[in-house]
This record gives sequence, C-alpha cells and structure tokens, in this order.
Amino acid sequence: MAKKKTNLILFGIDSLLRDHMSLYGYGRLTTPHIDKYAQGGAVFSMFSPSIPTTPGYSSMFTGMDVFSTDVVALRHKGGLGEHVKTLAEVLGENGYATTCVGFSGNPASRGFQKYLDFPGWGSFDEGRSPKAENLNKVTIPELRELAAAAKDKDGKPFFLFLRHMDPHSPYLPPLPFERMFYAGNETDPENHSLDKVYEFRPFADYFRSWFPPNCTDAEYVIAQYDGAIAYMDAAIGNLFAEIAALGLEDDTLVVIDSDHGETLMDHDHYFDHHGLYECTLRVPLVFRLPGRVPAGKQIPDIVQTKDVMPTILEILGVKSGIKFDGRSLVPLMNGKARVMEPEMYITEATWQRKHGWRTPEWKLIRALEPDVHFHPEVELYNLLTDPGETINLAEKEPAIVEMLTARMHAHIAKREQQTGRTNPIYTNLGWHGHSDEPFKSSEEAYTTMYIGSPKTAQKLQAKDAKQKRNLKELQTQRGAKKL
Ligand SMILES: [Zn+2]
Repeated sequence: MAKKKTNLILFGIDSLLRDHMSLYGYGRLTTPHIDKYAQGGAVFSMFSPSIPTTPGYSSMFTGMDVFSTDVVALRHKGGLGEHVKTLAEVLGENGYATTCVGFSGNPASRGFQKYLDFPGWGSFDEGRSPKAENLNKVTIPELRELAAAAKDKDGKPFFLFLRHMDPHSPYLPPLPFERMFYAGNETDPENHSLDKVYEFRPFADYFRSWFPPNCTDAEYVIAQYDGAIAYMDAAIGNLFAEIAALGLEDDTLVVIDSDHGETLMDHDHYFDHHGLYECTLRVPLVFRLPGRVPAGKQIPDIVQTKDVMPTILEILGVKSGIKFDGRSLVPLMNGKARVMEPEMYITEATWQRKHGWRTPEWKLIRALEPDVHFHPEVELYNLLTDPGETINLAEKEPAIVEMLTARMHAHIAKREQQTGRTNPIYTNLGWHGHSDEPFKSSEEAYTTMYIGSPKTAQKLQAKDAKQKRNLKELQTQRGAKKL
C-alpha cells in the first residue's frame, strides 16, 4: 500500500507583526494558543521583503523573490505569470484536494480547486467584527469534509489555506477582547495622541469609519490591534482543537505565517502596512508536525517568505522539479547550518513606490518617486543603534548610502540578468491605480491618494452630529482602498 501523504494547513494571517505576538516576547499575552501549539514545532523569525499583500503572498505561494514572481504592486495588473507555479498547483498535481479560504480573486491565490469566502471587514456602525469566527464557520465544515476524504481507503490528502483578516484594519475585535488591553477613556478630550492621524487626509476618513466616534487615544487603537490578534488566537484555538479531534495531528503539517507586518503609530504611517520600516517586514513563521518537525526549536537565522514553499514541499516529500529562489529550512530545523543570506532587497508599491537594501546593521530606503508622506528621497538607519529607525543618517553618512546603493544595484542587475526581466518596481508605473505616470511631487501624491470623497467626508462629519451616514458609500470606499 502506498504511503499516506501528509496534509497541509497553512494559516496565512494578513498583517500580523510578529513583535506583537507573545510567541516572540511581546509584553501582552496576545497569542497563548499559538504559543502553546508552536512549542510542538519550529519557530522562525521571518522577513517579508516585498510588501504588502499581493507581492507578499505571491512570494509565499511560489517560493520566489520579487524578480521571479514579477509581482511588486498591491494593485497588480493581470494575473500571476505562467512562468511560475503556485503551491496549490503543485499539490493539486500531486493528488491533493486544495481549498482557499478568504483570498479569492487575488493573483497570488491562483490554482486552488475550491475558494470559500467569509466577511472579513466591518465598520464601527456595523458593530464589532467577528472575522475569525466568520472564518471558522466556513472552515470547520470544510475541514471535516477534507479530513473524511483523507481518511478514506484511497484517501486524498488536502491543502487548506486560511487567510485570517483579524489583525488587518478595521481593528474591531468583539468583547472582551476590545477591553482586554485597555482600561482608559478613549474619548478623553485632553488626549491629543490621534490628532496627527486625523490630520493625515489620505486615510482620515477611513479611520473615522471604524474608530469609535470622538476617539482621541492612540493607545486605544493599538489595544484594538492587539485585541484582534488575541481574539483571532482564541478562534484559532478552536481550529487546533478540531484538528486534534479529527485525528489529523500526526499526518498534517501546520504552518503559521503572514504576508507582512503592520505599522501602528510609527513613522507617520498610521495603522497600515506601507513603508519599508521593520514593523512591516517582520512576520511570524511556525512549522508543526509531530515526529517530523523537531519540537521546541526557536531558530534565529534570517529567513524570508520565499523559503516557505520549498520547506513545505520538502516536509511533505513532494518533488516539484522547480528551482526556487528560496531554500528549504529543514536543515536549520535539524540543527544544520546553511549559507546565510543576511542582506535583502526590499520593495513596496502600495501607497508609495520605494525600494531599499537591508543588512543586519543598516537599512537604506530610496524613493522612486515623491511620496505621500513628504519623506526625504533617501533614508538611512542604523538598525543596531537605532532599531526604531528614528534617526535618518543619509546626509551624515554619504559613503554608507553610496556603498548600500551600489550593493542594491548590483543585486538588481544580477537578478534581472538571471530572470531575463526588468525589475518590476521599475515597470509598474501605474502602481497607484490612477494613471501610468509617476507622481511628480509629494503634494500630487497626497492629493491623488486621498481615500474617500469630500462628500463622504461631509457625511462622516455629519456622523459626529449623530446623523446617519451612507454605509454603502463607505463600503465602496473601503473596497477601493484595500485588497
Ligand atoms: Zn496583507
């Protein structure tokens, strides 16, 4: 009898900054269920070098970097190129039943046999948003069906992908999670910590659609991000229990990761995931399969999103014949060394178009066109002496800027030559979705990237006067803003 194939459940949680998980030492107990579960597996500290959602998942699902996926923009035009194969396609060809929950329609999620969706958004007026419960409602019946089929005599193994949306804004965790990390008065008129947030016109109306009316306290909003993680963690606890109850634990690889992190109040980038600062690049990565993934491992090497797929395939014992850009992490799990890759090329084409070069000591960020935040064209941070990236040393250290720029360009030239394609950050000039022209000034970017019409703003102001607003318009606005 042929050996039974191993199932795969991949939690691809959107916008989960690992620094806000207790698993990685955060001071608030945000992920107790994941922490306990991960004790039975291997934990890595991953970087997602090409943010946000569409390029992040494209890399995760192909084992390739941004040059190979050719996907750099959030609003990527068209599909994923036929020159790459997705994890769902490879496993489908190897006899797996494949189901994707919560990510239909994105270029990165190509190749699943089945797509299921759940309500993963919300607004303050619609009430608290039980996103993870919504996900469980569609996932648990599907998991039971897949498990039953896998346990048949001619069992069909499965790949179930779950894209949780809880840490993604709007942060609206239900009680008691709303208050779990906050005991203050979020409408204290003496508190001005959100003033700058409301002044940032491109996002202000979006924030007003899900912050409580007259909210003044940034700490409250941060506590909602943490509360959303804790709420999701509890709901994920239900899934872990279901996996155990179905007898799947010993033949199902469970992977937990994220497409990018999240910026809270840092760098004027407020409650979103743009900007190439550490908070958007640092994501979790956990593998668990009792008996086959060593338990209790915390592995400090720098690993990247492109390493996820080759690692999964090696653990599942599936040969794809693909030459990945990423490398399997199995040797690291087993205590073997691998050639380190301590430097990385970083990109974003979301609310601004930038790229850069990160080493363990330095971060260089270069704008390819004027940005919506009026930041300087070149930024340089020393990650060892200034891990919060608060002091831009670009003017003070021109030789280091030059050295890092040269390293970055050498890498770009090498990868362009290897792939036979131009770096997609150079060719996606319509990344912002308004025209095919780069912005000529920060003013132009600031005005163009305005989210929500003045009419909506007026209606939102009317909300403060307790008038009803047009929910439908807000939903359209949200749909336009985010993917
Ligand atoms: Zn995302």
